[in-house]
Amino acid sequence: MNYRHAFHAGNFADCMKHALVVALIGRLAVKSTPFRVLDTHAGIGAYDLDGAEAERTGEWKRGVGRLLDITDGPLAPWLDLVRRAGFPPRYPGSPALIRMMLRARDRLMLCELHEEDSATLRTLFRGDPQTAVHKRDAWEALSALTPFAEKRGLVLVDPPFEVEGEFERLAEAVALVAHRFRAGVQAHWYPVKHRAPVRAFHTALAGSGVRDILACELWLREPTDPQRLNGCGLVVVNPPWKFEEEARAILATLLEHLGEGAPGQGFAITRLAEE
Ligand code: SAM
Repeated sequence: MNYRHAFHAGNFADCMKHALVVALIGRLAVKSTPFRVLDTHAGIGAYDLDGAEAERTGEWKRGVGRLLDITDGPLAPWLDLVRRAGFPPRYPGSPALIRMMLRARDRLMLCELHEEDSATLRTLFRGDPQTAVHKRDAWEALSALTPFAEKRGLVLVDPPFEVEGEFERLAEAVALVAHRFRAGVQAHWYPVKHRAPVRAFHTALAGSGVRDILACELWLREPTDPQRLNGCGLVVVNPPWKFEEEARAILATLLEHLGEGAPGQGFAITRLAEE
């Protein structure tokens, strides 16, 4: 396990994923009945953008660093949380963001397999009765920790894509969770480097028999260079009511602020399977 999210925290891919996750949880919180969130690839929870790792890549400066002054519009719910968490220099990863959105009876389960990162995560949430930290394999946790007792909630899957076969694993995870926890909302992040593997992933999902799937994608340039993170996507299963509209506005606003006018930049929301 070589991947460390600290090098990439706050980059455009985090902006997209985190803004959409906040929108999903906002929708779950419309109903007063409790929900649960499982974040299978949690990282360390929150990041120091003044730290050596973030400084070395400077990725956040072309991501959340360009959004500092936004206080209204579709990105505001997420950016308000980011500022409340101490940005800058502290940037909340998915665990810290999700935790800020829990009500008194909601629960959060976090899995992180990296030795050091899971220890850091555990320290961040020590003594928190609503959050459980597991040093556990994400793929195994999907079976072990679903469905939820609350019967509603979000399963967030955010793998590092550092080994072969991650798209296939993701497609299997979508089907597994849909089978075990039919009503659960699912969000699965993936990179868009070039189009071929993404097309195959979408085709696999469309033919999986799982209902109600959207793919939200943002590209900063033409996805033709397999060595570069040209864009990214989030597959959402069982998107809550009105999420699609909100996601469209989020992606358009992100592109307006993070796009540099490169050929092929854009965004799309594609329905892969009907309700
Ligand atoms: N979700 C985090 C966020 O948005 O703040 C970032 C997660 S990062 C992209 C992926 C994380 O998954 C890394 O911290 C890595 O150590 C962890 N990881 C990789 N393989 C794993 C596995 N099989 N089970 C659990 N965690 C894993």
